[in-house]
Amino acid sequence: MYQPIYILGPCSAETEEQTLMTADQIAHEMARCASCGTLIYRAGIWKPRTQPDSFQGIGVEGLSWLARVTERTGMPTATEVATPEQVREAATHAIPYIWIGARTAANPIAVQEIADAIKETGGSFEAVLVKNPVNPDAALWIGDIERVEQAGMRVVAVHRGCSHRPCWQMAYTLHQNRRDIPLLLDPSHLCGDAALVPALCDRAVELGYDGLMIEVHCAPGQAWSDSRQQITPEAAGKVIGQGPSSVPPSKGGRINREAEDLLWLRAMIDETDDVLWETIEERMAISRRIGVWKKEQGVDIVQPARFQTILEQRQRWGATHGINEETIRHIMEAIHTESVRQQA
Ligand code: PEP
Ligand code: MN
Repeated sequence: MYQPIYILGPCSAETEEQTLMTADQIAHEMARCASCGTLIYRAGIWKPRTQPDSFQGIGVEGLSWLARVTERTGMPTATEVATPEQVREAATHAIPYIWIGARTAANPIAVQEIADAIKETGGSFEAVLVKNPVNPDAALWIGDIERVEQAGMRVVAVHRGCSHRPCWQMAYTLHQNRRDIPLLLDPSHLCGDAALVPALCDRAVELGYDGLMIEVHCAPGQAWSDSRQQITPEAAGKVIGQGPSSVPPSKGGRINREAEDLLWLRAMIDETDDVLWETIEERMAISRRIGVWKKEQGVDIVQPARFQTILEQRQRWGATHGINEETIRHIMEAIHTESVRQQA
């Protein structure tokens, strides 16, 4: 039977009270979930933050709070490790699951050092979760996974996107190459927005993911890190506890591999369209600045020679990239018309 993996908990363990309260509420919500398989509680203890003056994680002290979570709720716990010393601390405190974060995953030397430290601990972890690197590099992600496997560990891959974008292509490459290991989606880091998390969870189910890693906080608005993307335990319970619909169609035998492939390809198309439209929006913002300049300088908005130059440039590019000359003309004319409208 399909046994999804759910890893729920706050971005960071902040205080003992917040760590335990969030855990109690998750355990309560998930107790009512009919289709729940493995449930693991996550909380970051050492946080790789962009700014030096933001919260860097509570440190070793938080590991004992995680032990209390397990005592109270029975949930095994997971935390992020970024150095060999952190691996040793996690092993000493008997944390069963550790994860390698996206920033660490981008550095193979750091991953190897972590893998070596894992091996030294004598394989005391149940599994190691390996997030995708911050840059969309499937080969690097697969390499990270192999380094951890060579240390004798079971690996679970976690797709968390890049710069709040999904990178479905990267995840699909991993999925095709490593169907033997579970693949989870981390919608929280993937989009950075709590409001978008439920729809992404549905998409993960459709695409045949083996589970979810979601940031869940007892009071998301007051979180010390990633507050915009965390959801409440109640919301997580709703997203996950939808009964049979939370079994991926492919895993439930309702659709075959080919049908699942089409869903992946459509996810890639949607992502490409997002980028395309955001690029058009950026282009229009530049056009408006040009409009201001032309007005100040008393220059006509429409410059036919300039349009002709960029059109021909694109058509030459199209000739070597398999895109029809007439299609390029239609698209460039539409963009130009809107550009003129924005400048007026
Ligand atoms: C996290 O899970 O809190 C985290 C920092 O993840 P990532 O490495 O994906 O940013
Ligand atoms: Mn986070």
